[in-house]
Amino acid sequence: MTTALALYSGGLDSTLACRVIMEQNIRVVAVKFVTPFFGADLLKDPEKYQQTVHRKYGIEVILRDLTEPYLRMLARPAHGYGKNFNPCVDCKIMLMGEAKRMLAELGADFLISGEVLGQRPMSQRRDTLRVIERDSGCADLLLRPLCARNLPPTKPEREGLVDRGKMYDFKGRSRTPQMKLAEYFGISDYESPGGGCVLTDPNLAQRIRDHYVAAAAEEKAVQADDILLLLSGRIFQLPGGSILALGRTEAGNQRVLSRRRPGDWLLNLRDDPGPLAVLRPPANLWAAGYPAPGQAPDQPAAADLAADLQRAAALVLRYAGKAVRQRGRAAVEVSRDEGESHAIEAAPARDEEFIPWRR
Ligand code: SF4
Repeated sequence: MTTALALYSGGLDSTLACRVIMEQNIRVVAVKFVTPFFGADLLKDPEKYQQTVHRKYGIEVILRDLTEPYLRMLARPAHGYGKNFNPCVDCKIMLMGEAKRMLAELGADFLISGEVLGQRPMSQRRDTLRVIERDSGCADLLLRPLCARNLPPTKPEREGLVDRGKMYDFKGRSRTPQMKLAEYFGISDYESPGGGCVLTDPNLAQRIRDHYVAAAAEEKAVQADDILLLLSGRIFQLPGGSILALGRTEAGNQRVLSRRRPGDWLLNLRDDPGPLAVLRPPANLWAAGYPAPGQAPDQPAAADLAADLQRAAALVLRYAGKAVRQRGRAAVEVSRDEGESHAIEAAPARDEEFIPWRR
């Protein structure tokens, strides 16, 4: 049976691309690539994601984690960045190159994607599409069912595996043709176009960019754990060099907690509900500071760390409920790894003091 491998984002366009090809009685296996910047949470429960996509759209999907090569590429993308810290052209080259390598593994004949000519400023111009195909080694193997009739016939079309007449000629930024096609397939519940990649979010992208700049200055490799911490909750870079992540909600607290690793400090209010925070000292950042199991990491000068913990406690109180803030000084529980814990007395941080630390 002819099989197509789809580059699947979860958005409407890639969903439609899969369905257009499935309409031709071609088996479609969709691959959703994940990195800390898009889709990372799906790795917590891949089966649930697979079942949801299948139930909603009838699509068979697999997840593939590209974290390590992606982190390296983001340091220096050959084609540069878009408006924020988004390396869209190199990102697509990497994803397509990886999909091409998966063809043999999955016994698939060709690739499909949901791109539409001229839809996004940089990565979907005709000349850029060519560069992406060339650099990923996918020229002639990649079919774009939503705009195929605006492009020269690809190998699977010439070989008769796919009927070109049953594909589309969408072009430009209008979403109307996609909406109509979604209606035809009975698809009403889908992610917003372009959503889900934090590298296009101005604030988060700046946070990541700053971290890459700091890594280059330190001559360190960026670590996935650090990126995941930086993308969870309110983030502060404290004067002693520590990074503090503070939950915004109960779910946010759990997310921050899940990012904790050995050597990090956990802060929470002892007697009141409020934000939970994880403080990562500078020696616990980057690869070099990562402690071996059961071994405490090197710590920065004790005075710096103590001052950062004091600041972190003040921030936990600043973001606690009104009743706690009005009470003034309170105790914050501070703990690290097993059994190491104490309380810090602090007053809520003043705005003018902590605003420069916000990231
Ligand atoms: S928006 Fe993000 S996921 Fe999409 S191509 Fe650009 S960098 Fe890649």
